[in-house]
Amino acid sequence: MKPLIVANWKMNPISRKQAEHLFGSIRKEICGIQNVEVILCPPFIYLDFISKKTSKNIKLGGQNIFWDRQGPYTGEISPQMLKDMGCDYVILGHSERKKNFQETNEFINKKIKASLKSRLKIILCVGEESRNSFNEDGRWTGEVDLILKEQVLQCLEGIDEPQVANIIIAYEPVWAISTVESGCAATPNDALSASLLIRKTMHQKYNEKIARSLRILYGGSVDSKNAVDFMKEDGIDGVLVGGASINSSEFTRLVKAVSGQYLSAEQRNYR
Ligand code: PEP
Repeated sequence: MKPLIVANWKMNPISRKQAEHLFGSIRKEICGIQNVEVILCPPFIYLDFISKKTSKNIKLGGQNIFWDRQGPYTGEISPQMLKDMGCDYVILGHSERKKNFQETNEFINKKIKASLKSRLKIILCVGEESRNSFNEDGRWTGEVDLILKEQVLQCLEGIDEPQVANIIIAYEPVWAISTVESGCAATPNDALSASLLIRKTMHQKYNEKIARSLRILYGGSVDSKNAVDFMKEDGIDGVLVGGASINSSEFTRLVKAVSGQYLSAEQRNYR
């Protein structure tokens, strides 16, 4: 499996002109890179022109959807509409939506089911809010295990085995997101502990094959300097990038750094 880099542009940039410039610069720099999968998730209104100009190695995703196919839901976008716009993916369960729009695991579960029906692949975000969930010596506590386990199980309630292949889980500790006060990246070790716990949960809910083949990403203050450190961990299959994805030179440096790492890892029979 190629490493996966997901760019979450959030509500950026402010104009279509800037979005065209950002996309154009990224595409120009990374269009020849084949050993990394890149998924761009811009705001809905930029998807149309990007989908017309995107290259083979750049896939598109939305940042949210509503759970019904169409109807009286003012301001919402359906999974079918995203698919029709050229998207293959959708980010669900992002902590900013949980905080600002009171999204619960139950809502997220409905959105996952609706997205799967429209044949979208899901990038499901999970993560604990507070770094206090770590012991004083920085070690993983049982509290984090419980939070992650509950999020995974509630969000995937009623999702059966064949459908799980379309789900990627992104471990995004809320305290590590660059825009939260004092946001700084987790350590690769933190990310690995979370990935092990997520795989264990998936093993208990489904089976070993699913737990092993699940793609798990890390997100939270990832940039061109630290991305490779996360990717070196065997349980981490990629990164979800917020702030660094709306700076074209920083983002292309990140993609190139991961691409270079993967080549050398491949020579060592990586995975
Ligand atoms: C995010 O919010 O999804 C994210 C990963 O943000 P950042 O990279 O800016 O921490």
